[in-house]
Amino acid sequence: MSGGRREAGCASVAVPVPVRRLFTYRVPERLRERLEPGTPVRVPFGPRRLRGTVIEYPVPEPEDGVELREIEATLDAAPRLPAAVLGLTGFVADYYLCSRGDAVATALPPDPGGGSRERRVRLRPGADPDALPLRARARRRVLETLPADGTAVPLGSLAPADRRAVPALARLGLVAVEDRALPVADPVDGAAAAVTARGPVEPTAAQREVLRPLGEAIEAERFAPFLLFGATGSGKTEVYLRAAERVLAGGGGVLYLVPEIGLTPLLVGQIAHRFPNQVALLHSALSRRQRFESWERVRRGERRLVVGTRSAVFAPVAGLRLIVVDEEQDGSYKQEETPRYNGRDLAVVRAREEHAVVLLGSATPSLESFQHATAGRYRLLRLGGRVERRPLPTVDVVDMRREFERHGEIRPLSEPLVIALRECLGRGEQALVLRNRRGWAAALLCPRCGERVSCRQCSLAMTWHRAERRLRCHTCALEAPYPEACPTCGAEELKQLGEGTERIEDDLRRAVPGARIERLDRDTTRRKGVQQAILQRFARRELDVLVGTQMIAKGHDFPDVTLVGVLSADQSLGIPDFRAAERTFQLLTQVAGRAGRGRQPGRVVVQAFDPEHPVVGLAASQDYEAFFDREIRYRRALRYPPLTGLVRITIHDREELRAREWAERLAEALRDASAGRLLLAGPGPAPIERIKGRHRQQILARSAGRRRLVGAVDAALAAVEGHVPSRALQVDVDPYSLL
Ligand code: ADP
Ligand code: ZN
Repeated sequence: MSGGRREAGCASVAVPVPVRRLFTYRVPERLRERLEPGTPVRVPFGPRRLRGTVIEYPVPEPEDGVELREIEATLDAAPRLPAAVLGLTGFVADYYLCSRGDAVATALPPDPGGGSRERRVRLRPGADPDALPLRARARRRVLETLPADGTAVPLGSLAPADRRAVPALARLGLVAVEDRALPVADPVDGAAAAVTARGPVEPTAAQREVLRPLGEAIEAERFAPFLLFGATGSGKTEVYLRAAERVLAGGGGVLYLVPEIGLTPLLVGQIAHRFPNQVALLHSALSRRQRFESWERVRRGERRLVVGTRSAVFAPVAGLRLIVVDEEQDGSYKQEETPRYNGRDLAVVRAREEHAVVLLGSATPSLESFQHATAGRYRLLRLGGRVERRPLPTVDVVDMRREFERHGEIRPLSEPLVIALRECLGRGEQALVLRNRRGWAAALLCPRCGERVSCRQCSLAMTWHRAERRLRCHTCALEAPYPEACPTCGAEELKQLGEGTERIEDDLRRAVPGARIERLDRDTTRRKGVQQAILQRFARRELDVLVGTQMIAKGHDFPDVTLVGVLSADQSLGIPDFRAAERTFQLLTQVAGRAGRGRQPGRVVVQAFDPEHPVVGLAASQDYEAFFDREIRYRRALRYPPLTGLVRITIHDREELRAREWAERLAEALRDASAGRLLLAGPGPAPIERIKGRHRQQILARSAGRRRLVGAVDAALAAVEGHVPSRALQVDVDPYSLL
């Protein structure tokens, strides 16, 4: 056998298992013509059959003499990744240290499942009822009833007796039976129907100013990363849409990423109106069949503008020329399960590979992106203030310590806020109230022993949900009844600590009687569609006040909101995470930015126990750049991202000792691999020490050189293979949260 022939006999295949290597399979003669990178195949894997994806073909046969197994079949009807997306999965596997198979599985659409199917029957040309014997009455009747022009009709529309005659007719070749999936409703149509189209607007001078370099970059068809930085309400959306319009007019494709689609039904509706028959939606709230069909429409080139959440960064858009990442700072771009990629960062990687323009936009950019812009790696586009010179809202900070002194108790709604609410509603305007915590009470505290009622499985306090009369752990979802006494010391009077949105809603109803109030958080929106329904009712002015968690802070554009209240604004500053200040600043600025977007100016009332905290002050003055300058100095001094790369490794096990032993072993391997060039912290207990009954140890590895860092972690993980089980490990490159 010649070398060439032997090489044509093998392919390397990615298989959806958590093993970080490709597998070599022999290619049978009959499949050789049909194989190329990206081809979906069925392969034997242990005792199972799996759907694999060809990564390289042909490859040389490995020389270790191991008997290779054979690819069984190509899956010709299965979706296949275009070359650019297949390449992106390679980046994901290498950079985020996951298996290529897991990366490919993330990029592929979900299996559509059986879904609703319908059997239809049609006449074959030349079928003649008179050719059948007279006694075959049912068969003759079927041939007579079916449309002569061969149009298919549902099998169910035939009389039952006639239906039973169909298989025989099919065997005789007189009729054809087809099985087809019932068309599913295109979610874009629903989104468009739910909103009325806004008339076109003329770009403002500021918008034209930033559109010029964007247009030039789009025409140049070269990789060009931009950061669009403009205050809340400065009209960034219009810039994204104009840029998209330009690409679509030139026949190119656009990816438009948003943090969470459910929170922006109005935006999606507007986009659908503006680009009829060009939009495909891709996000996880769609049914699997809908996602599959959207994906296929995009792959076939029928839709060239994809609007979606983070996984849409893998959408098979052909001729991609522009990727928009709206609210690029948002934590939802980070996937918190394997593969732990960041959709915003992948957008930049993909744009580079495909020579496209990538446009990140925010009023409060992530420190990462603003640092890139400062260093000249991204081109900074400033949009400045609000459209039509609408003023930014005025912000008043209420000192809750003084409120406490005055009333001798903590009232969740301060007097200034209640007065502002009454005035706002009195003028017929709307208000938002943010409390970034669900439930009635965040914890139950025993005043005698000082213990909190905590989850049996996690080292966290349980939240009291009064309406459901359940204590619930927000990490593992474990539930318990309200304890009659302190589980630790038996004392009977437990104190409720930390008001959540449920409690605030109740307080609001008392403070502004008669107001139409609705709550928006994960508890009230568990049922599908409720979230959109509440937001739409608020937009239609059927509600006066919306109270909720960060869900109410995101991207909404309600012109009649003139008041925003923020409760416990400074609380999240105490979270043991280097991003605590950044996240607090972003949330405060974003929610404040919901006020005064229409004709009336807006006002924000911020309640804090530490009103002098610089982050609260900077958010109140909406001064992002001052915040950036301050925060970046901390990050530099403490060597945190974006000035260093960071990998977080969590080692978990039911047995604390074992987790510690494994963590030590891995730390040792990391020290060896780092050759003194990585900054290692830990192992030590993770900030949340126990989740779902598993003890957690954590190691943080940092280095200015990201490639070197990832390479060293990779080497260390290889070194402990066989000693530390991979199921006990969780590797997070560029983590968003450190808890
Ligand atoms: P951002 O995304 O920057 O927070 P938006 O894009 O939502 O801001 O715009 C804020 C408001 O200004 C919206 O109500 C939008 O319709 C309006 N707007 C944007 N551009 C224009 C324009 N060129 N002319 C008139 N109104 C505009
Ligand atoms: Zn728990």
